[in-house]
Amino acid sequence: MSNSATYETIRKELQQISVVDTHEHFCFPRSAARSHRDILTMVQNMYIVDDLRSVGFGAREWGEDIPAPQQWERVKGALARTANTTYFKVLQRIYRELFGAGNILELDYDAASAPSLEHAAQGTAWYDAVMDRANIQCSLVDKGQSTDFEYWLLYNGKGLPYSGGLTGDAPETSHYPRFLPILRIDFLAYCYMPRARKGLEDRLGARVQTLDELEDFLRELLPTLRQRGFTGIKSCLGYYRDLHFLPRQRAEAEAAFRAGDSASPEQARAFQDYIIYLLAELAGQSGTVFEIHTGLRCFGSPYTTGNGPHELTELANRNPQTRFDFFHSGWPWTWQAAAMAKSLPNVYLSLNWLTAINETQAEHYLQESLDAVPFSKITWGGDCFYVEEAWAHLEIMRDLLARVLAERIGSGHFDAELCRVMGRAILRDNAIRLYGLEKDC
Ligand SMILES: [Zn+2]
Repeated sequence: MSNSATYETIRKELQQISVVDTHEHFCFPRSAARSHRDILTMVQNMYIVDDLRSVGFGAREWGEDIPAPQQWERVKGALARTANTTYFKVLQRIYRELFGAGNILELDYDAASAPSLEHAAQGTAWYDAVMDRANIQCSLVDKGQSTDFEYWLLYNGKGLPYSGGLTGDAPETSHYPRFLPILRIDFLAYCYMPRARKGLEDRLGARVQTLDELEDFLRELLPTLRQRGFTGIKSCLGYYRDLHFLPRQRAEAEAAFRAGDSASPEQARAFQDYIIYLLAELAGQSGTVFEIHTGLRCFGSPYTTGNGPHELTELANRNPQTRFDFFHSGWPWTWQAAAMAKSLPNVYLSLNWLTAINETQAEHYLQESLDAVPFSKITWGGDCFYVEEAWAHLEIMRDLLARVLAERIGSGHFDAELCRVMGRAILRDNAIRLYGLEKDC
């Protein structure tokens, strides 16, 4: 068989695999149905907004008070200057292939908004249709911010003022059976602050007033995580600080707790380190997967260094029983993630988001990683706010995975049966095994 015939065969087989998607931030069907999701809203909640910022269309331009049709014309002008990126390709594929609306750059405001408004209003029925078309069986969902404290943390992390009072959907309240909740644990690492403890009470119903009580609660939380409806825990602390977590004495955490809002930056850092090590230990004891954001930040968070996978070396080495899922393969420090997944039995390689950040690099990275990292440790996720985006991210993933596997068969590197097993493992079986899911989750 020619390489292109092999590609077509594999691509069809990959389409038949019912995907277990390890990471999303999905808006819930009921929220979509309530929203006025015009094209401007849609673009602002997709990754393309970062490429727009990159070409000079940022917060100030979005904030200008001008009629929506005129604003859309300005956005299109900026979008045209991003038309080479994978983020743009995602938007274009949604409009061309999923919505059947044609070239996004040729649509006026009403034509571009009509499909997104119409589909969002359908709520659950539209979600079912997109999840079925993508052939996603279930998605692990982290909603990020759901309490006032978490919104404060988000704004503070971006250096923006926060006037208080925001709350959002929590993943355990999605009421959509194909979404499996993940608990974002960032606020726990700030519980030396009274307002973070208020967030803990709001989120999980626990009132703690001492470090002892906080530790007791965490020791109870991790073993009961599944009963509480969560499939794993996730840290996004890489958005707020570097990832160089170090082992700390309990007295250091105690000092931060006593200092509260007056804790020095060093005391705060020691507290965060202490809680992350405690959570890692408890995750290991309870068999909970610890997901960690590594690498690039998005949605206007300041660019930084110090959050590549290598920063987590000590945490991973000191907690060998804890399974860490390294998100985004640490892009742009992807080889650190691959080396750690190869060397450390407790580190796993997640391609989530990577395939939409840089499709070509994701393809080369996967091709080369398959010579180094056991395929049974690699998973995929969309990392999206909209189900439509996840459909597009998965199309891109299936396309590049089929190209990689076809090349490997064509070159005689792997046989067809191994490629079949690897495709199914990366899109489905590895996630089921890593996260301990039912096959019909
Ligand atoms: Zn994410």
